[in-house]
Amino acid sequence: MTTELDRAAWTAKARALDIRTQAFIDGRFLPAASGRTFDTVNPATGAVIAAVAEGASEDVDRAVRAARRAFEAGSWSRAAPAERKTVLLRLADLIRAHLHEFALLESLDMGKLVKDAAAIDVPGAAGVFQWYGEAADKLYDEAAPTGRGDLALVRRVPLGVVGAVVPWNFPLDMAAWKCAPALAAGNSVVLKPAEQSPLSALRLAELASEAGLPDGVLNVVPGFGETAGRALGLHPDVDCLAFTGSTEIGKVFLGYSAQSNMKQVWLECGGKSPNLVFADCRDLDAAADMAAFGIFFNQGAVCSANSRLLVQRSVKDAFLEKLVARAEAIRPGDPLDPASTMGAIVDEAQTGRILSFIADGRETARLATGGERVRVAGAGCFVEPTIFDEVAASSRLAREEVFGPVLAVIPFDGEAEAVALANDSPYGLAASVWTDDLSRAHRVADRLHAGTVSVNTVDALSPQTPFGGFKQSGFGRDLSLHALDKYTGLKTTWIRYRAESGD
Ligand code: ADP
Repeated sequence: MTTELDRAAWTAKARALDIRTQAFIDGRFLPAASGRTFDTVNPATGAVIAAVAEGASEDVDRAVRAARRAFEAGSWSRAAPAERKTVLLRLADLIRAHLHEFALLESLDMGKLVKDAAAIDVPGAAGVFQWYGEAADKLYDEAAPTGRGDLALVRRVPLGVVGAVVPWNFPLDMAAWKCAPALAAGNSVVLKPAEQSPLSALRLAELASEAGLPDGVLNVVPGFGETAGRALGLHPDVDCLAFTGSTEIGKVFLGYSAQSNMKQVWLECGGKSPNLVFADCRDLDAAADMAAFGIFFNQGAVCSANSRLLVQRSVKDAFLEKLVARAEAIRPGDPLDPASTMGAIVDEAQTGRILSFIADGRETARLATGGERVRVAGAGCFVEPTIFDEVAASSRLAREEVFGPVLAVIPFDGEAEAVALANDSPYGLAASVWTDDLSRAHRVADRLHAGTVSVNTVDALSPQTPFGGFKQSGFGRDLSLHALDKYTGLKTTWIRYRAESGD
């Protein structure tokens, strides 16, 4: 399907959307038990998109009970892997068939460019469901080495009810990263999308049902973190909680587990990923293109955003000049206009947070470009692509996650200093290295403490490779077959049999 629609066509499609607003529990849409709703707002215009069911503990409990019933009934948890594959592949096709609808839901709900959502987010989510669908019937279990008369089977079994709590930056993709492997393994899922961006998850659950997922296997409870998220984190009948979001709230989920049933918790949290540009990188233009992409894509709301640029002093000025030119070519605009090159910040609160980092930067570093809030057609939450030079490694701008289009540039002289600066962070999610010296590439990549090191690119990512971090970026991996480790437990079945027939 072509994505080459113009602004008028996207706007017309946006007006024609039929938006799902209720919780999806046990195969049907339901209002919140309290009857309450909350408004979801388009940050590009400030307009209310829809009033969405405000799920809280009663709704979460209802969803967990439905998930448990479905798990025990076995129509999914004990289905042949090939049957699960068929359903997940059908869901991948349905997501692709609703490309424009999903792209619009993402864009309207959290401000990203609709063209990016259509080119990246939606195909990405479909690809992840496809990948885990295809994997479902290709994983073999083990037989342990034992003596005669003993057969020890070691199988991966689904855990039961998986809770998933996801953020607003890639609402559909984060839902897919959690749900696809959890479902492929045979679990039931209760998903709580972020309060800023509940719409695509609700539609996803409906399409999963259409694809043949039995009732109760995938439930979506929209609501706030402190109520619905908390209820899921504390629920005594949730076996595993997979979270993507801030480090601060990741820690809160560890506490919920400790206070309740010791559920497994898997955390994909913040980052302050360094991008190291060495003077021996021959294509500084490519490096500048990707450095700009690495911080300004999705308005900088990427947990693995390359938000610290460590650049060798001998090329710093030349590189910064290239980067500033690229930043100044990126202008925030109407997310539904394919000519726009940056979308809106998710909400006023996040805009304020970004502006507070910028205010700090003005005091402690040199503003190279950007720094202003902008309005598009007189409205909305938009912030210019912003670069600070001469950022002190100890400053807030160099250490804390902004989750916005703000880059901190820190010069270095030698390789050892670059590695030390890069690793001097509470986070360890991703890192990038630009060099044409093969030995340096390997040496530095080995020493960087990051879940993914990209060499001569940024933020390399695929369904085939694990994604996640070290240190306070969390633990457990999304994507790849390794994600299945989070959603399965190893079960040993030891069979003793008569080794002689006795005939
Ligand atoms: P971000 O900074 O990206 O908004 P958060 O960590 O605040 O990230 O939110 C990520 C997810 O965690 C969202 O779905 C949010 O509703 C949920 N959440 C936020 N606070 C809590 C909380 N106290 N308990 C449970 N869930 C929470």
